[in-house]
Amino acid sequence: MMRGRMMNTKAQLMHIGGVAVELVRKAIKHLRLGVYPPHGRVRIAVPLRVHDEAARLMVLGKLDWIQRQQARIAARPRQTVRALVSGECHYFLGQPYRLEVICHSRKRGWVALHQSHLELHVPLGASTAQRERVLQLWYREQLTTLLPPLVEKWSTALGVQASEWRVKQMKTKWGTCNTRARRIWLSLELAKKPLHCVEYVLVHELAHLIERRHDARFKAVLDRHCPPWRAYRKELNATPLAHESWTC
Ligand SMILES: [Zn+2]
Repeated sequence: MMRGRMMNTKAQLMHIGGVAVELVRKAIKHLRLGVYPPHGRVRIAVPLRVHDEAARLMVLGKLDWIQRQQARIAARPRQTVRALVSGECHYFLGQPYRLEVICHSRKRGWVALHQSHLELHVPLGASTAQRERVLQLWYREQLTTLLPPLVEKWSTALGVQASEWRVKQMKTKWGTCNTRARRIWLSLELAKKPLHCVEYVLVHELAHLIERRHDARFKAVLDRHCPPWRAYRKELNATPLAHESWTC
């Protein structure tokens, strides 16, 4: 998925066929309609020269689709807010681990992975936010260690090279690919997912270096290199989510 640069746009709220729609004008070529989590917000991006009426007609023609998307978003399981205390279940590479919080008198925190539990060592009196930082840092280290051979493997398989890749904290996407800069960002949340899902997202983003859009050519690349990708995508979006919902 590409995410365009933030533009100076002003959203306008319209009611079309009983649906509240945010309309934004952008320097794009085609109308783009989307339904977004967490509450199924509907947004249409309209090219500068296209009249509002065209946007209205597009929304009317897609009302069924909009309702289906909103129902899907509402039905998605959500991960409850974590306090990062002992006994919680936290995931690493698709496996559940019981969290054990151990307080100590040192300044820095760290994480130790055991067979069935994850030890979170934190300074005495560490807040939830501080605990979260220690855990996130650990997830980041794990992904950063795990990814280089995978990037290498899939870049070779697909015959493409990203100029740069990074692990980022992203709220709504598993990965993004800026095709012009050939830069790939992968979500930190992937550390919680099974390895085949991590690889699928990587293949997906690398495939954008071959084809920018999610068209037949793009899907053919995925079919060839990662045949079960549809099942993996489903798996990614079905498991409890740390944030609200994801696409890639
Ligand atoms: Zn994509």
